[in-house]
Amino acid sequence: MSATESGNVIAVESLTRKFGRKAALDNVSLAVPEGCVYGLVGGNGAGKTTLVKHLLGTFKAQTGSVRVLGEDPVRSPVEVLSRVGYLSEDRDLPGWMRVRDWLRYSEAFYPAWDAEYAERLRERFGLDPDTRIKRLSRGETAKAGLLAALAFRPPLLLLDEPSSGLDPSARRNILEAIIRTVAGEGRTVFFSSHLLEEVERVADRVAMLHQGRLVFEGTMEDLHATHHRWMLRFPQAPAGHPNLPGALHLEGDGQDWTAVSEGDAERFRTEALAAGAEITGHSGASLEEVFLARVGHAAVLED
Ligand code: ATP
Repeated sequence: MSATESGNVIAVESLTRKFGRKAALDNVSLAVPEGCVYGLVGGNGAGKTTLVKHLLGTFKAQTGSVRVLGEDPVRSPVEVLSRVGYLSEDRDLPGWMRVRDWLRYSEAFYPAWDAEYAERLRERFGLDPDTRIKRLSRGETAKAGLLAALAFRPPLLLLDEPSSGLDPSARRNILEAIIRTVAGEGRTVFFSSHLLEEVERVADRVAMLHQGRLVFEGTMEDLHATHHRWMLRFPQAPAGHPNLPGALHLEGDGQDWTAVSEGDAERFRTEALAAGAEITGHSGASLEEVFLARVGHAAVLED
């Protein structure tokens, strides 16, 4: 079935990958519809890069299946890779090349390369064509890699930690703008990130990985509709954690507690009132709050 027939540009089903006895990916299933901006989040060692490597066909599924643009990336690498703009986490670009050579070199691989667009991006990214790649800063190297991933206008952009090395202004003004433009053209973006606020701003759909397992997968709308943050005050400090089964996470001491709930908000409200709490605040939970509630505060996200 083609990607267009299934409507999914990426389809991963029951994917498990073990290194020795440790599962880097444990029964992961997800689907990325055409035109979607899909954010993959997870702490260090969660399995993000391992998943991306399966999408590129670098790793063969040990169990389960992977389809990208309707193809198996291991069996049909040319069909897949010629249509995927990829930015690797380690930005492995040839340091000895000048920016100008890098563009010419990349162009040679892709018949659909749009040289005018590449030049516009180079100017926008502020990359001097005469500078050698090894002399570029981390952020500039990321921009050079991003440029090559974009300039042949691939139907799928696969970006592993695209923000890493970019300053906040470049993240907002360049990366996020590009992601929106690409999606606005009906193309698909799949990106991994440690930056939950950024994912929340740009992604339509999100997958949260923790120790190889998906702990949430769905649209950002679903996430916001089903996760709430509550401020609770008890007339007397509860002995231990308050008993609130609808809470994914509870934090506090004494009389004041904060909860992140999952599911129907009214049900949680009733539960909290029945437990004797006064509700002093209630709002939708942010992606970061949901992440911390599901994954635990120990899973520190480091840039
Ligand atoms: P980070 O954000 O730190 O880059 P990640 O989410 O990309 O992390 P992965 O690189 O996919 O995580 O790693 C997931 C787990 O698999 C880690 O425990 C890692 O040590 C292990 N792992 C990844 N690649 C290999 C490999 N080639 N051999 C052995 N173990 C590996």
